[in-house]
Amino acid sequence: MHLSEHTAPIRLPGGLLCDDTLEREVRFRLITGGVEMSIAEAMNRIEDTPTFVTGVLTQAVHSIGDRLSTEGAIWHLCIADRQYLMMRLAGLLHQRFRWLTFTCNDCGLPFDLRIDRENIPVKEAAAGFPHATVQLAGQVVRLHVPTGSDQQQISGMATERAVRGLVSSCIESIDGGTSQESFVDGLTPTEIEQIDQALEQISPAVATGIQTDCPICHETQIVHLDPYQGEGSGIDGLYDEVHQLALHYHWDEETILNLPRFRRRRYLGLIERSLGMVG
Ligand SMILES: [Zn+2]
Repeated sequence: MHLSEHTAPIRLPGGLLCDDTLEREVRFRLITGGVEMSIAEAMNRIEDTPTFVTGVLTQAVHSIGDRLSTEGAIWHLCIADRQYLMMRLAGLLHQRFRWLTFTCNDCGLPFDLRIDRENIPVKEAAAGFPHATVQLAGQVVRLHVPTGSDQQQISGMATERAVRGLVSSCIESIDGGTSQESFVDGLTPTEIEQIDQALEQISPAVATGIQTDCPICHETQIVHLDPYQGEGSGIDGLYDEVHQLALHYHWDEETILNLPRFRRRRYLGLIERSLGMVG
C-alpha cells in the first residue's frame, strides 16, 4: 500500500511569500515513530523560544504550498503562523481536545476549560500582508510583519531595546533605499506606535485569550493560552511501543519507526488481543 508522506493541508492565517505568491497551505509530515522521535529531540533541546519553535516545526512540517519545507522557510513564517502551526501540531501529536485548568480571577476557585485545537479562532491577514507602508516625517517606510527570524534577533533584549530592535529588523526600505541604524534610534514613541498600528492592521493573529464564564461564580473573564505549551513529547510511550513490536514480530527498530503511527497502534492492538486470547 502506498502511503502519502504528509497530512491533508491546513490553511495558515498569514502565509509565506514565495516569488510574489502567498503560499498558505501547509502539510505536516505523516506522523511515524521516526518523525515523533525527531520532534521529541527538538522539543527536548533547551533554547530560546524562537529557536525552539523553528526546531520543532522544521521536523514536523512537510511542505508549504507545493515546496518542501526548509528550516529557512520556517524562520520566515510570521509569528501568528508559527503559533498556529504549534497548536495544530499539538492536536496531531496528542488529541484534538485538551482540558486546561484556570483559576477564576473573581472567586479564586479553579475551573476546567476544554480547548479545541482544530478550531482555533484566528484573525486572517489583511490585503498587503506581509508588507505595510508608513509615512514618517515625509519618508516612505516599508516594513514586513515580524517573522520568527525577527523575533530571534531581539531574543534576550530588554523591552525598550527590543521594540526598536524589532522595528529595525522589520524595515525593508526607507524611501526605496536601505535603512540606517540611526533612523530607528531617532523615532519618537508616537512614530513607533504608528508603525505598530500599521503592522497590526494587516497582521494575522491567533486567539491566545479566550472569553469564558467561571462555572462557579459566573464571572466573565479572559483566560490566556500559551500557544507553545505542548504536553511533552510522550517519547517514553514510543520506546515501549517499539519494544513491544520488536518482541512480538522481531522487526528491527528502523522498520518499526517507519510505520505511520496509526499502523503501529493497530499492530499493538492485535498483540494485546492475541495476548488476551492466550491469557
Ligand atoms: Zn469564579
